[in-house]
Amino acid sequence: MRYISTRGQADTLGFQAATLAGLASDGGLYVPEAWPTLTMAEIEALAGLSYAETAVHILKPFVGDALDEADLRALCEAAYGRFSHAAVTPLVQLDHRHFLLELFHGPTLAFKDVALQMLGLLFERFLSKGDQHLTIVGATSGDTGSAAIEAVANRAHIDIFMLHPKGRVSDVQRRQMTTVLAPNVHNIAIEGDFDEAQALVKRMFGDRDFAGRFQLSAVNSINWARLAAQIVYYFYAAVRLGAPHRSVAFSVPTGNFGDVFAGYVAKQMGLPIERLIVATNVNDILHRALSAGDYSTGTVTPTHTPSMDIQVSSNFERLLFDLHGRDAGALEAAMRGFEGDRRMSLPQALRTRAAADFASARVDHAGMVDAMRWAHASGQVIDPHTAIGLAAARASDLPADVPVVTLATAHPAKFGDAVEAAIGVRAPLPERIAGLMEKEERCAVLPATFEAITGYVAERARPRA
Ligand SMILES: *Cc1c(COP(=O)(O)O)cnc(C)c1O
Repeated sequence: MRYISTRGQADTLGFQAATLAGLASDGGLYVPEAWPTLTMAEIEALAGLSYAETAVHILKPFVGDALDEADLRALCEAAYGRFSHAAVTPLVQLDHRHFLLELFHGPTLAFKDVALQMLGLLFERFLSKGDQHLTIVGATSGDTGSAAIEAVANRAHIDIFMLHPKGRVSDVQRRQMTTVLAPNVHNIAIEGDFDEAQALVKRMFGDRDFAGRFQLSAVNSINWARLAAQIVYYFYAAVRLGAPHRSVAFSVPTGNFGDVFAGYVAKQMGLPIERLIVATNVNDILHRALSAGDYSTGTVTPTHTPSMDIQVSSNFERLLFDLHGRDAGALEAAMRGFEGDRRMSLPQALRTRAAADFASARVDHAGMVDAMRWAHASGQVIDPHTAIGLAAARASDLPADVPVVTLATAHPAKFGDAVEAAIGVRAPLPERIAGLMEKEERCAVLPATFEAITGYVAERARPRA
């Protein structure tokens, strides 16, 4: 399998190089040259397989000859063996048609573990063949940082530097990062906000001198391998509900459009998905784009669903590429316009094409609280992000015989205060992080300047081989 950039100017790469690169050199995102497809019989044959074995079947065409099947199987078994539920991503039934797909049984209790556990192993595997070192730098407002740190702690060929805004992540979120004392893990609290942290990271990637000295890599969802790993649970869940003989709909709490894009890929591969519901909070750029063609940025309103408080969804570019008929020149012109004006309007023809796969909904605070109460009445305590997805699922007008699966993206204990405010119940911290509040922390505190951060990284990272 070869990977091309959405902007058409970067080199075409194989799976290994695309995974290590993250972003394409022309500023675009890597996508497969063509979507692989599964036959009806191949989808039928997924019934009864374990999660790890399903992952082998789904990932195989994307990995191509970068790994042989036995290696891929060993990686899938190692990645998903760290989940605390034997089904890895279990389905829970709420009523006659609504289901939750619990994606939070990994080490840091959010769905990002599903992809990052795999990505950490892929990095290590690809690097161990040579004497390369990878320097991962990232900025986090919460969930991505801890999931990435868990995934690469103690890996010999990787150093990770994770910036978070000092005092602006929750105690649980901070401790999930700073109590990992592995020597290759470097937490940095910057004296600034998340936007400053992210701007510093972008500047490191863009600085020729600095990026020339270290092999930098990214772990956010611009990385194709991360998206590929997320395709698996769409197949796993749909097959359990009767696919390929029955269509299923999914409602996805959306921020960067990575998770729901993985569902779109599953559909391109042949999984009968009736519709993908893009659920947003009041930061609704994606809902405006899909329902009215208005893809324009505003200011971010902080909500109880911080992982969905976004201005620009980086993975939307991957969908726009397909909507433009995979014409990289047209996409590049559209993205250049958007980067200049901070707005883009989607013509009717593109919206009609998108509407075949996607519906969307905007859910406000009251809608979120309602959904949490409704789920609680059915015996389930859900987190605020999941509640946005469930509210959108319940509001959709899909045919009554189509089961609707809401992706449960975080464990309710991760957002205990918001859950308690809504339903008066506090979800206990699961066993695996029960001792978190007593553990030793390690974290540097630095001013939010380029010199301070690059100086710190340069003293500790290993230069390019
Ligand atoms: C990251 C995240 C999301 C949003 O996922 P995207 O792939 O960015 O759309 C939703 N919920 C939770 C809990 C998250 O951590």
